[in-house]
Amino acid sequence: MNVKSRLPEVGTSIFSVMSKMALEHQAINLSQGFPDFPVSEKLIDLIHQNMKLGHNQYAPMPGVPALRKIIADVIANTYHRPTYFETEVTVTAGGTEAIFSTIAALIGSNDEVILFDPAYDCYDPAIRLNGGIPVHINLKPPHFAIDWQEVQDKITPNTKMIMVNTPHNPSGSVLSESDMLALQKIALKNDLIVLSDEVYERIIFDSISHQSVLKYPDLAKRSIAVFSFGKTFHATGWKIGYTVASEELTREIRKTHQFITFSVNTPIQFALAEYLKDPENYLHLGKFYQQKRDFFLNQIKGSSLKALPCFGSYFQLLSYDGVSAKNEMEMTAWMTQRKKLAPIPVSAFYQDRSDQKLLRFCFAKSEQTLQNAGAILRTI
Ligand code: GLN
Repeated sequence: MNVKSRLPEVGTSIFSVMSKMALEHQAINLSQGFPDFPVSEKLIDLIHQNMKLGHNQYAPMPGVPALRKIIADVIANTYHRPTYFETEVTVTAGGTEAIFSTIAALIGSNDEVILFDPAYDCYDPAIRLNGGIPVHINLKPPHFAIDWQEVQDKITPNTKMIMVNTPHNPSGSVLSESDMLALQKIALKNDLIVLSDEVYERIIFDSISHQSVLKYPDLAKRSIAVFSFGKTFHATGWKIGYTVASEELTREIRKTHQFITFSVNTPIQFALAEYLKDPENYLHLGKFYQQKRDFFLNQIKGSSLKALPCFGSYFQLLSYDGVSAKNEMEMTAWMTQRKKLAPIPVSAFYQDRSDQKLLRFCFAKSEQTLQNAGAILRTI
């Protein structure tokens, strides 16, 4: 049979490749971004209770009302945007499904979507699978700042959407208030939709406040903000997140969401509805991860690899410029196989595979893991 691939150039995601390589070589896995410490017992008990209570059948397609209601309250309190749970919040199977459903709902043949590289790996294929045309703009280390004039110059009559991600995976950069104002101006002027990946909203450091699209009323009207409980509650394997968008945008997103997953697992939704009632369960996440970033940075003192600025997310970039002539993939494989420490090559996040001698390390790990990783990095 002749199978015609719709994504001929796409292989297995770098995260799966590297986690597998780490396992095969018994390397410390700082590649794929996931915590290696436990989820709250209280939350697990709540899920168990809800399963026992019989909340085991399909949830309503947009999400369990009690969960959407508390999400709407948290959003309103955090970003000062009044949010209507019936019409503006949709629970999804993680951030990735939220992004795919949004693009499938809103992007069609020849619609152009602007995205910034390094970009998370699911953005570009989601656009192309739906007939859209990704327009990549490369951001440069160490700050990965957006040149908004360059963005304006890339806009054509076919541009429909801009995708942003703050705090940013893989660079750990964050968008500032002036970035948001520039984005708002461009979106309004060119009648664009903004898809804003904010899954690391609470993992932000150094007293910086997260700049959600939801904080800017004119921007919020034309934006879809994507969030993730996996990141906030250390449970990436649960694959549960949500979108917040205007009624008009949400109506369209639900049309695709209902055919992609229909609904998300029920007992976890009930449990989260309860767990979110106590802000203590999420308010200190920035501090918690800032300590991990600092612990990791401290551990690598004495290594010849150099840390780039990091203001949020799970990730720290290290440069090996001047240390090795290897390209990023070679360096990644060498480090995993020979040094028993697995990172992710940043070139995997660039469509043009820009090789800048940068590796991404996930510090969402126990101190013991970070200490062991530090001991290895200090030998390089
Ligand atoms: N978000 C995780 C990362 O950046 C990976 C998730 C995945 O493996 N798809 O590492």
